[in-house]
Amino acid sequence: MSGEKPTIVYRYNGGLYVNLTNRCPTACVFCIKNAWKMDYRGSDLNLGGNEPTPADVLAAAKKEWEAAAFTELVFCGYGEPTMRLEALLACARLIRNGKADPLPRDLKIRLNTNGLANAVWGRNVVPEMKGLIDSVHVSLNTADPAQWAAVMRPMEPWAATGFEKVKEFIREASLLLPEAYATAVDSGDVDLEKFKDLAAKLGAEPRVRPRLDEGEGR
Ligand code: SF4
Repeated sequence: MSGEKPTIVYRYNGGLYVNLTNRCPTACVFCIKNAWKMDYRGSDLNLGGNEPTPADVLAAAKKEWEAAAFTELVFCGYGEPTMRLEALLACARLIRNGKADPLPRDLKIRLNTNGLANAVWGRNVVPEMKGLIDSVHVSLNTADPAQWAAVMRPMEPWAATGFEKVKEFIREASLLLPEAYATAVDSGDVDLEKFKDLAAKLGAEPRVRPRLDEGEGR
């Protein structure tokens, strides 16, 4: 899917990934979007401010499905998908309502996120995801608040409260959604046992991955 146009969807590991936005409330130290110059294996993920509509996303996903089925639809591009919460939920709703034929209504829908949606939107948004999102992977990275701020580098409004809001998001997601993972990049500086303990305490499955995961960029 390389080409001159920015990429809305791209395939990885059997899934179809959706590049909904380039906006993000964090500047994670492990983010590959700058190092890789907004390119992902030949796909240009730089939307240049032209964020796709739900209709654009579904048209692209349907075309891909017709070419070859995929195992899941994953909202994860070079940006934080929940910055476009309404568009994200609209895509999922259209699929669940059978209005995205030939995409199956029960297509697995996953969200990869930094977990700051509740902070950004000023409300608990997880109940809005119920019945629409099957799985969330939240980039928690550490059990230490100071280290979280150093690694995630959140924008100022969320520097002080962000870590608690991410924990709240994970707790809610583990209660309301079928699957909740807390992820950490194994940078060598993180106390992984404490991270795993915290993930478990929040009700999420811990998942550790190597730095520069070419899979997801978060
Ligand atoms: S890794 Fe994801 S959450 Fe972190 S800065 Fe990059 S796009 Fe944002």
